[in-house]
Amino acid sequence: MVSRVIPVETFDLVIFGATGDLARRKILPGLFRRFRAGQMTPESRVIGAARTEMDAAAFRAQTRAAIEDFVDPAQRQAETVEAFLSRLDYVAIDARGTAGWAALGALMRPGVVRAFYFSVAPGLFGDLAERLHRNGIADTDSRIVVEKPFGRDLASARALNATLAAHFDERQIYRIDHYLGKETVQNLMAVRFANMLFEPLWNAQHVDHVQITVAETVGVGGRGGYYDKSGAMRDMVQNHMMQLLCLIAMEPPYHFDPAAVRDEKLKVIRALDPVDPADIVRGQYLAGAGQPGYLADVENPASRSESYVALKVHVSNWRWKGTPFYLRTGKRLRARASEIAITFKEPPHSIFDDVQGWRENVLVIRLQPNEGINLMVMIKEPGPGGMRLTQVPLDMSFAKALGAEAEIADAYERLIMDVIRGNQTLFMRGDEVEAAWAWTDPIIQGWEDRGDRPQPYDPGTSGPEDALMLMHRDGRRWREIRE
Ligand code: NAP
Repeated sequence: MVSRVIPVETFDLVIFGATGDLARRKILPGLFRRFRAGQMTPESRVIGAARTEMDAAAFRAQTRAAIEDFVDPAQRQAETVEAFLSRLDYVAIDARGTAGWAALGALMRPGVVRAFYFSVAPGLFGDLAERLHRNGIADTDSRIVVEKPFGRDLASARALNATLAAHFDERQIYRIDHYLGKETVQNLMAVRFANMLFEPLWNAQHVDHVQITVAETVGVGGRGGYYDKSGAMRDMVQNHMMQLLCLIAMEPPYHFDPAAVRDEKLKVIRALDPVDPADIVRGQYLAGAGQPGYLADVENPASRSESYVALKVHVSNWRWKGTPFYLRTGKRLRARASEIAITFKEPPHSIFDDVQGWRENVLVIRLQPNEGINLMVMIKEPGPGGMRLTQVPLDMSFAKALGAEAEIADAYERLIMDVIRGNQTLFMRGDEVEAAWAWTDPIIQGWEDRGDRPQPYDPGTSGPEDALMLMHRDGRRWREIRE
């Protein structure tokens, strides 16, 4: 099956922070892949912007190096790379200064989509928005893309929303959560809402519990300073994991469009119960396997930030009352694996003697690695010897189902193309972000008020012991973390 690629409208995309890590690793290689796939019209342009003085030729050379580092050799034929680089330009600009803005304005063309990617520290978002407006560079149809973190609590998120709203309408603001750009995450919506099979069972009557896991093997590495100010709750749960939870728990939107989908997600966040402190476990990784521990990584021996958090969450509405959602995320764990697992209840009565072989049906949505969806079902163990049960996966992995041509686009490239199309479905709305902070703030405040200390855990494990207890005491257990 050959995938259909529909070119987007011609655009001028300005990347503020074009010399930074995110641009080099994700944004520029991602744009190249979309160019190669035929999704960027030949007239579209990418304009790099940062304070570093350089000309367009130097920016192209930097971008060529980024493509060599981050794009598979089979996907970067020299001719295509050169054609892409010829679409690049560069302006030296200071978000807080006056230099460079006139030059940027002169580069923008009338009659094409204008998009501005704020791949800079959040402290500069307001400066950029204000200068784009003041210099007449942004028009009423222009889009801005803002990176995480979007605030560090409700008050700062509100302030940031207000700053952006002073210059741009909500329909122009694209708050990126790259988890929403993942193929499998979108497929979750297709599986739920394009099939009759799952939705009738998608409720507390039939679902025993849901587990969402985002496990990493790396530590905080060179980002220690940044990470220590946030911790896993702010860095992962408030945004990415909350978005995943919303997509699982939401009611069917009346249509797959931005307003409808985001309205339903917002309702889920508003239905979240406050979390009982007894239902949260925090951890910090210890040193091991020749690697420093968390406290050494962040160079703060008194740090109380968590590199691991597990929590039990209740969605208080008719659909989910009584079905817990268990969330866990951490660094330096046993394996790099992100997945959502929906565990169904037992059949009301077993007609088989072989109860030993029986396992629950589980729908596993795998985000990384090996994106795909598996439904664990019971069948008869093949061969003679009577009726013995065994569990097998019904494998809905894309590579297998759709053939090798189904190259899975990276989340960033997919989301950038959505910005150009003007489709906000997979971006967070301002009220969603604020509601998520309103739920998160009291949890973090509680830790601070109680002087709560994370529990140490050994690297290469599945996290602190107490996290196991969080499930055990409910008669359940975490799925094994494995690649
Ligand atoms: P970075 O490597 O520190 O790059 C920052 C960029 O901003 C550089 O290009 C820098 O270039 C530019 N810059 C700094 N001050 C500026 C100013 N006054 N005016 C104009 N440009 C300025 O940061 P990053 O890792 O790419 O992250 C960028 C944003 O993405 C941040 O909001 C971050 O939280 C978010 N993010 C990053 C990642 C990631 O994996 N890196 C993941 C998720 C979110 P000059 O020094 O040349 O000005």
